Amino acid sequence: MRLDNISLGDFRNYVNLQLDFDPGVNLIVGDNAQGKTNLLEAIAYLGSGKSFRAQRTAELVRFGAEFADIEGSVTAQERQQSVRWVLFPAHRPRMLYRNGAKKKTAADVAGLLPSVLFCPEDLQVLKAGAAQRRRLGDHALCDLRPNYDAALAEYHRILEHKSRILKDKEEDIAVLAILPEYNARLCQVGAMLISYRARFYDSLGKAAAKFHQQFSGGLEEFSLQYKTVSTVTDPFAPLDVLRSQLEEHLESHHRAELSSMQCLTGPHKDDFDVTLNGISLKSYGSQGQTRTAAISLKLAQRELMASQWGEEPLLLLDDVLSELDPKRQDFILNQIDRGQVFITCCEPGRFTKLGKTIHIENGTHVM
Ligand code: ATP
Ligand code: MG
Repeated sequence: MRLDNISLGDFRNYVNLQLDFDPGVNLIVGDNAQGKTNLLEAIAYLGSGKSFRAQRTAELVRFGAEFADIEGSVTAQERQQSVRWVLFPAHRPRMLYRNGAKKKTAADVAGLLPSVLFCPEDLQVLKAGAAQRRRLGDHALCDLRPNYDAALAEYHRILEHKSRILKDKEEDIAVLAILPEYNARLCQVGAMLISYRARFYDSLGKAAAKFHQQFSGGLEEFSLQYKTVSTVTDPFAPLDVLRSQLEEHLESHHRAELSSMQCLTGPHKDDFDVTLNGISLKSYGSQGQTRTAAISLKLAQRELMASQWGEEPLLLLDDVLSELDPKRQDFILNQIDRGQVFITCCEPGRFTKLGKTIHIENGTHVM
């Protein structure tokens, strides 16, 4: 699939922008704070209905504007289709149109324009905290499996309710009566998350191992281990087994949860670890190894998406190439001989020979 063009109205710092894209590489060039990342954000939002950096939809609407408009023409499954989002700054729900017809949810455009984003923070993800790794895994999995996306949202809703119960009990001890019901739901939905994650991390790890091996000239064996709640003996086990193992862990932490007033156990604490030749990368990996492993993970994510949707997803490289030495840049660029790519950078430098160069200045396209 590819994005043929985009129009933005009052999106972030863009008042009005119309752009045609190259089916191959698009290089987005400009000084700092001109709108390069905003443009990638709009492209990613078009296909997913999600921002990779905003907390609230309102942030996407240009300051003072009544609404933001993102529209794009997509060539997917060999036909041209259009997607349009209208976003509001206040509580009004956003609107989505596919080929002019109003749609209800982002699931109505799932698979039409999937994308994989790679930014400098991702290069450090294997050394960072668990929350950052979880976010990376969850984003990728949500893009692959809309049902996982729904289950994850449900899990977080229940978790939020449960947190409130644990805090409110200080004022009204009677609220604890509904805690078992929430715990039961948490374990039920939590089991689904673990089951999805076990399969996803297994495929991701295998695909990444292949890239990492190529890159290290066969010297380093990459392996990824998914880590979840300690009572879960096999994350591939049937859902009812996972559920009862989660319940077991919850029960053993019941008192600790009451006294700390926090949800201490469950897949919201999951993580994954990468080892190279059996040695933990998080604890012992060098800078170069960490970066190479992160690149392998991203390329693996792209490969899983391609096999899920039958076409190469868009690859969005936000400032990432300029962070890398020429050897690693070449490794990425050599892997992207197929599919459409959007690369942002401040200095076009050595990439100018690729595809189309788009200069962005203060939210406008300069010719
Ligand atoms: P860098 O090279 O530093 O990464 P960039 O070109 O990627 O820069 P962006 O992050 O795309 O920059 O754009 C940042 C600019 O957009 C900032 O000046 C910010 O104030 C502006 N901006 C962000 N959200 C809005 C909004 N809702 N309305 C108006 N302007 C906004
Ligand atoms: Mg940027």
